[in-house]
Amino acid sequence: MELFDLASIKRDRYVSVIVDCIGIEDLLTYRIPEDIEVQIGDVLSVPLGNRQVGAIALQISDTSTITNTEIKSISLVISSGIFPKTYWEMLVRTADYYRTPLMQTVKTALPPKLLDQSHYRIKINPNLTVPDNLEIHKILKSAQVVWEFLQEHRNNPKGISRRYISQKLGRSASSGLKELNKLAWIETYLELPNRPKPKYEDVVTLAKEPDVKLGIKQIEVLKILQLQGGECLKTELCKLANTTTSTVQSLENRGFLTISKREVLRLGGKSHTVNRDRPKDLTTDQDVALQQILSAIASQTALHFLLHGVTGSGKTEVYLQAIAAILQAGKSALVLVPEIGLTPQLTDRFRARFGDAKVNVYHSQLSEGERFDTWRLMLTGDAQVVIGTRSAVFAPLANLGLIVMDEEHDNSFKQDQPQPCYHARTIAEWRSQLENIPLVLGSATPSAEAIYAHQEGKSIYLELPNRIGNKTMPPIEIVDMRDEFKAGNYSILSRRLQVAIAAMLESKQQGILFIHRRGYSTFVSCRACGYVAECPNCDVSLSYHDPISPTAYQPKSAHLRCHYCNYTLVQPKSCPECGSPYFKHFGSGTQKVEQELAKLFPSIRLIRFDSDTTRNKDQHRLLIDQFRSGEADLLVGTQMLTKGLDIPQVTLVGVVSADGLLNFSDYRAGERAAQTLLQVAGRAGRGEEEGKVIMQTYTPEHPAIEAVQSYQLDAFMQTELAMREALHYPPMGQMVLIHLSSENAEAVEKSANELAEYLRQLENDWDILGATPATIAKVSNRYRWQILLKFAPEVLPNVPNLDELRMLVNSKAIRVAIDVDPMTIL
Ligand code: ADP
Ligand code: ZN
Ligand code: ZN
Repeated sequence: MELFDLASIKRDRYVSVIVDCIGIEDLLTYRIPEDIEVQIGDVLSVPLGNRQVGAIALQISDTSTITNTEIKSISLVISSGIFPKTYWEMLVRTADYYRTPLMQTVKTALPPKLLDQSHYRIKINPNLTVPDNLEIHKILKSAQVVWEFLQEHRNNPKGISRRYISQKLGRSASSGLKELNKLAWIETYLELPNRPKPKYEDVVTLAKEPDVKLGIKQIEVLKILQLQGGECLKTELCKLANTTTSTVQSLENRGFLTISKREVLRLGGKSHTVNRDRPKDLTTDQDVALQQILSAIASQTALHFLLHGVTGSGKTEVYLQAIAAILQAGKSALVLVPEIGLTPQLTDRFRARFGDAKVNVYHSQLSEGERFDTWRLMLTGDAQVVIGTRSAVFAPLANLGLIVMDEEHDNSFKQDQPQPCYHARTIAEWRSQLENIPLVLGSATPSAEAIYAHQEGKSIYLELPNRIGNKTMPPIEIVDMRDEFKAGNYSILSRRLQVAIAAMLESKQQGILFIHRRGYSTFVSCRACGYVAECPNCDVSLSYHDPISPTAYQPKSAHLRCHYCNYTLVQPKSCPECGSPYFKHFGSGTQKVEQELAKLFPSIRLIRFDSDTTRNKDQHRLLIDQFRSGEADLLVGTQMLTKGLDIPQVTLVGVVSADGLLNFSDYRAGERAAQTLLQVAGRAGRGEEEGKVIMQTYTPEHPAIEAVQSYQLDAFMQTELAMREALHYPPMGQMVLIHLSSENAEAVEKSANELAEYLRQLENDWDILGATPATIAKVSNRYRWQILLKFAPEVLPNVPNLDELRMLVNSKAIRVAIDVDPMTIL
């Protein structure tokens, strides 16, 4: 044995932490004492002033920029290893790549309760020598008020919640607390939530066939139980059989059934039961895809797959069977889906396959409590499937075995604001590498990024070219709306579409009508003088909303509303400029289509599905369930309809106007339009009957329309990629967009130009475009400017981060944001 083991000579080590403390937004550095072992993600107790506060360890290093004497040591490790090993590495990478302070990034990833100050409690520092009146009178008035309030509650050992203080003392409480905090008169701490007591319900299971004579009621109970698949909640059984628990109890006593307890979970989206389903026998294509994914799972390699299959080709079945293997191995799987509108149907399929207890849903529409509970469940390490929207990419699942991203091309995977403006796909890719697990990207219309990654040899291509049961894709008919106009049809519905709807009604089938915009029409103008009502706060025209389908928050009369800031105005009876009573409505929103349909087909039953009618999470499911059960003939709606809706009875899909999608001057508009239109088309003909799609447009010669009509999206995307390559657009080039906004138009213009000038002087290999006003130059009374940086991918020059930008701009009146890999540059 060697006498001197080099590794045993301890060097000073340091840890950067975030602390649970009001007003501290930066990382703090502490020394790690020799006898304490610290890992990234550990919850620590650290000294701050003369108090102890909770902290999370984020970075560990051998060096520190601060001179040693200033650095305090951490006191102890409260809990270790609750986060997955690579979790913090992922967050640090996210913060760095998206140029966002780590603290802000951590807040995006953790559930709201963990760092939200209002969940903290405040108490008087127990080590404090009680200040005398003189001292008290020297402090800020607001601090005095808080101090007095705390005195009233000093007998409560837990202190009082910050939220309660704010409620009682109002706005000034915050500055008072800050001051007391600085003086170290008070302590802040995060109260650990009370674990919700598990709730149980009685489940009745059929045990044996009756072999003796039973009463009529008892026989009925057993029969109903049989009809329920042999298992049923006791309360439900009693209700169905119209009997009391004692009848059920007596049957148990005699051994005909068993009653057992099952835990009820307080989780989102589990309010109704689903029937169990079994794995399907895979088609050859599905099997080929599955086997490759399974072998990557078995060998624990970070392979990326692009699963390309038209809607209805059985992608979800492949995910399900791959995940079954993951669960079998005691691991967890993460399934990322675009929007919450989609999740009821998809989660139902997962729950039906794996059972309620194994499937958790995580998205931002859950209540705080639900999010926190689900989040804690993930930390347990139990094998489970988490289905969630983009923020679920940060799900702290221990023992992750697979990540699936369904509808990979969807824009909702990118966060617009606040920062970090992350793309869940980018983070999923890192996570797969950090954890050595496969990533499956599924899509019927793969993004330019996914296609390019495959061409560069970075992913494995798996194809499901046919629909299950060899159902054909519905033929797509393009209607040139200019011909309609020439032929004297001024309706927003072409003659072809009218005929198709009539036929659909005749044969008692169902249809979907897709509209690009919500609202009655995009804008209203005066026929006499051309006046257009504009939002006083934003640089857009107001949209007309008709009161025919009022929702709770909508005025009862016709009104004009701004879709950016919600400014609402009752529709004037006459033009404010010239007094003329005649208005012209442009565009065709959901409401206008609804009216037109009602006029043409008086008996038609409609369901409107847009962001006006689906404000809350249950509304989605409700409307879709109503439609599925045949309560309406036609579902009329916006973009939301493109997402994963699988309703077999739908035979007709109409697109009222494809043009709204095409006319953006954004380089991604073509890709987006083609993807959206193809997704919409994919809603038709998923059942026994053949489907049909009718698309109305004023520009039938547009390449995206032609590509969609012939289902030749691959060729279209190759042309798109070639164009982007020539222009150095993503994915061949990389972009960063810097946003500036302010209520002061001149200040923001000046700052934006100065910032652009400064960036130009840096010696970086980038192109700088701007500063220019944003396409919508004003929103909610804020003037918006932007600067676009363009450079070769993966060389990320020294793009300034948010802190640096704020320093450069150096004005409280100007808000700055930075978007790495923006989805739109408008
Ligand atoms: P996608 O996710 O590509 O839209 P799905 O997995 O939803 O496709 O499959 C479409 C339909 O076909 C679903 O109703 C599904 O249950 C069914 N299905 C999928 N795979 C099979 C299979 N191998 N055999 C029979 N039915 C299948
Ligand atoms: Zn007028
Ligand atoms: Zn507005």
